[in-house]
Amino acid sequence: MCNDCKKYRNPGNIIGRILNRLGNITSLNDYIEYLKIKKNLRMTSEELKQFQDDRLRKIIRHSYETVPYYKKLFDGHDITPEDIKSVDDLAKIPITEKRTFQNADNREFLSTCFGQKDLTLTTTGGSTGTPLKIYMSKKGLRRRLAEGRRILFLHGFSAFDKSLLFSFYSYPEELIGLLGLFRQKHVPWEISIAEQYKIFREYDADGIRGYPSRVNLLAEYILDNNLDVKKPRTILISAEFLDDDVRKRIEKVFGAKVTNTYACEEYGQAAWECRMHDGLHVNSDSLVIQIIKNGKEASPGEEGEVICTDLNNYAMPLIRYNLGDIAAMSGRKCPCGISFPLIENLKGRASDYFVLPSGNKFSSTFIYILPRLGGVLEYQIAQKSLTRLDVKIVKSRDWTPEHTKKIWNFLNKCSTLKDIRISYVKSIKRTKRAKLRRFIPLKNSKKV
Ligand SMILES: [Zn+2]
Repeated sequence: MCNDCKKYRNPGNIIGRILNRLGNITSLNDYIEYLKIKKNLRMTSEELKQFQDDRLRKIIRHSYETVPYYKKLFDGHDITPEDIKSVDDLAKIPITEKRTFQNADNREFLSTCFGQKDLTLTTTGGSTGTPLKIYMSKKGLRRRLAEGRRILFLHGFSAFDKSLLFSFYSYPEELIGLLGLFRQKHVPWEISIAEQYKIFREYDADGIRGYPSRVNLLAEYILDNNLDVKKPRTILISAEFLDDDVRKRIEKVFGAKVTNTYACEEYGQAAWECRMHDGLHVNSDSLVIQIIKNGKEASPGEEGEVICTDLNNYAMPLIRYNLGDIAAMSGRKCPCGISFPLIENLKGRASDYFVLPSGNKFSSTFIYILPRLGGVLEYQIAQKSLTRLDVKIVKSRDWTPEHTKKIWNFLNKCSTLKDIRISYVKSIKRTKRAKLRRFIPLKNSKKV
C-alpha cells in the first residue's frame, strides 16, 4: 500500500465509511468533488505545470511500485521513477499500444493497492476487436462525474436544468433528481426517430447530451417534417467524431451552439470545448496529452497520434498510452482565460488503414472530409478487398444525382482504388454500443 493513492481509496475506518456512504447516497460527494476541481480552471500556465509535474511524480512512483506492467516496463528500459521529474521527462517512457493492453492479463495493469470492492469496471465498445476492460476506483469515477459537470456548468448549465441523453447507456435517475437536481432522461436508441422526437418534445430539456450521429438523425427528422423545436441551452456532443456538416445541421435545427468533447472510456472527458468553440481544452488537471509523430513530439499544428498519461486513475493508471486517434496541439492561447492547452483537427482512429494492392497502408482519416461534398447524412466505407470499397450512404435532404459522381471521384482520388461501389441505404447498422462506425478496414489489414 502506498500513500500516494490514499485519497482514491475508500476510507478504512467505520466513521469514514458511514460519512462516505451518506455522501454517496445524497450525491453530496459529487458536488464537493466538483467544487474542488472547479477552481483548477483558474490556474495559470505556471501553476498548471507545477500541478501536473507533482501529480505525475506521484502516479509514476505509485505505478512503478504497485502495477506489475509498469514495474516490468521501467525495469526493462532502465528507467526509475526518479528519472521522471516532470512532464518533459515523459518521453523517456515507451509508448504502450492499445493492443498490448488488450492482449495483457488485466491484473498486469491493476494497482495492488486496490481490492475488488474498491473497483468499478467500465468497458470500451470493442467495435474493432476485443473490448477493453478499464477499472477505476469508486472515488476516481466520482471525479470523472464531477469533470462532466464542470463542462456543463462552464456552458451555462445549472444544477436545476434537465438533460436528455442520446447515448448508449441508460443511466437511472439519480436520487438528487427527485429533489429537482441534475434531472436527466435517456432516450433509447432502438426506438423510431418519431418516438425519439416525441420524448424530446415532452421532456422539454434544457440540455441535449450524446452521440452526434443520434442527434443528427433527430435534426434531419425535424427538418424533414418541419417540426417545432424548443431551444435547449446546451448541446454536448461526445463519444464519436463530430463532422463539421453535422455540427452545422444540429446548431441550425436546435438553435443552440454545439459543444464538442473528446471522450473515451480510458480517460473520461479527455478534452472539451470552452465557450469559444475553437479547439478543445485538454482536461489537464486529470491527464497529459502528447501528440507524437514518427516517435517524436509533434510541433504545434502538426498532426500526430494522441498519447495520454493519466494523473488520477490510481486503480489502473495508463501511462504514455496510445489512444489511436489523430489530433494536433494548437499552440494558441485561448482567449477564454483557461490555461489548459488546446488540441485541434481531432480525427478518428489512426489505426484504421486502407491497404493498397502493393500492400502499402495509409490512414483512413481523409474519409472524414466526405460529408463536406454535400448530400450525405450518414456514411460508412468498408474495404472489401485490395481493390474494392463498399460505400453506404444515407442521403440528406440536399442530395442530387450529381453527388454520386462527386463521392466516387473523391474516394477514387484519395484511395486510388477503382472498384468503388456506392449504395444508398435507409439506415446504417450501429455497433453494439450504438455508435456509427465510419470505416471498416480490410479484414486482417493490421497484419499486412
Ligand atoms: Zn477556451
